[in-house]
Amino acid sequence: MRKGLVVGVATLALLLGLVPSALAASPATFGVPTATSTYGEGIDFGQAVVVDVPVGRTELLLTVADAIGPEVVEVSDRPRPGATTLSYTLDTSGPAHLIPNTRITAQWRLFSADDPTKFALGPALTVVYEDDRFAWQTVSGELARVHWYKGDAAFGAKALRLAEDAIRETADLLGVIETESVDFFVYAHPDDFYGALGPGAHENVAGTAYASIRTLLGLIPPGEIDDPLVAVRIPHEFVHLVFDTASSNPYHRPPRWLNEGLAVYQSEGYAGPDRGAVKNAARSGSLIPLDGLTGQFPNGRDFFLAYSESVAAVDFIVRTYGPNALVTLIRSYADGRTDDEAFTDALGLDMTTFGSAWFADVGATEPTKDGPRPAPRGPVPAAWEGTGGLISTPAPGAANPGPSARPSSDASTANDASPAREGPDWLIPLALLIGVAIVVGVILGRRRRASAGGPA
Ligand SMILES: [Zn+2]
Repeated sequence: MRKGLVVGVATLALLLGLVPSALAASPATFGVPTATSTYGEGIDFGQAVVVDVPVGRTELLLTVADAIGPEVVEVSDRPRPGATTLSYTLDTSGPAHLIPNTRITAQWRLFSADDPTKFALGPALTVVYEDDRFAWQTVSGELARVHWYKGDAAFGAKALRLAEDAIRETADLLGVIETESVDFFVYAHPDDFYGALGPGAHENVAGTAYASIRTLLGLIPPGEIDDPLVAVRIPHEFVHLVFDTASSNPYHRPPRWLNEGLAVYQSEGYAGPDRGAVKNAARSGSLIPLDGLTGQFPNGRDFFLAYSESVAAVDFIVRTYGPNALVTLIRSYADGRTDDEAFTDALGLDMTTFGSAWFADVGATEPTKDGPRPAPRGPVPAAWEGTGGLISTPAPGAANPGPSARPSSDASTANDASPAREGPDWLIPLALLIGVAIVVGVILGRRRRASAGGPA
């Protein structure tokens, strides 16, 4: 019934022309759109167009990466009828930094000045924001493409093999099929790498995965491709991308420790150094509760401890609940569940209780929670005394509590304290009578003045 009404209203709106429609009578004619990207500066968008009606508003619609819809940029240029070229520069310098390999689809839209419900939409153009600071070499495989600018072909081939093995193994573990290739950009120097991550990048990182653009940025100097660390670092980052494929949903990210824990567990296991770090932290009382590792990891010494704890917690899940429970937990996030829903369904206890169980498993004592506390009680009106300052409102549908449920003595005191607001019943008619008498008096007075020929 309600749905039928909505459809009916929408149809009526269309019939009345209340929604924008393309300029049918005198459309603007669009030529070929252009986009030129310069890394660290911006992207210049251009559009040749022949306009036949005065334009009241010019827009550029920009859909960045996998966004569900475009951002609308109002462009100040309102072309007059005739041939012209529209242009707009998207700033990507400094704090407006854009991660390289981000795809942007652009489309121009012109609204008629005479009838703002009518518009003309230009052709869509997709541009990739490339890191053009380097001459990239590329090697492609079935699941990944590796781009590098220092090192020989063997360097790229080895990086590709490590990447594809990690994707296959993690996809098999989590039971997902990867269909879209991943771009892996390998930087040779820290300055180059941090120039790609942009301002605000976390310190101590050697790789970062950007699932929304299926891109991975890594730091591997050419001489280190055979370093055992690289055989860990590359798979680690690719595990993140497969984790995203398995758990992605528009509502809620899984806790970061679960994502990082799986990446470490898959790429190097729960190894001696991590076990030692967790053991020491448990003994010294400095173990961070998992609740504190759901978002960004801490800086400094605790940054590394956070990774050790993450893999320890994943190891605990596998040992206690089995590998299938771990897979069920990660994949259940794809249904948009909360942390507690996901943990309760997969492991039988909510996330906080799981964190306590893990603390007990590693022999740690949970720290006292410091954080927001109730504000101290301030002065309250006399009528509220005895209620703790709170006046409760009955829930909808609850039985009327009646006068006895209120602080009746306090309420009567409050009323008694303001007698001017109340009075005998005959006061209201008397006030009305006096008001009417004054109005009648004023009218009679004006008439007398008018008949006497006074000033108008
Ligand atoms: Zn990671």
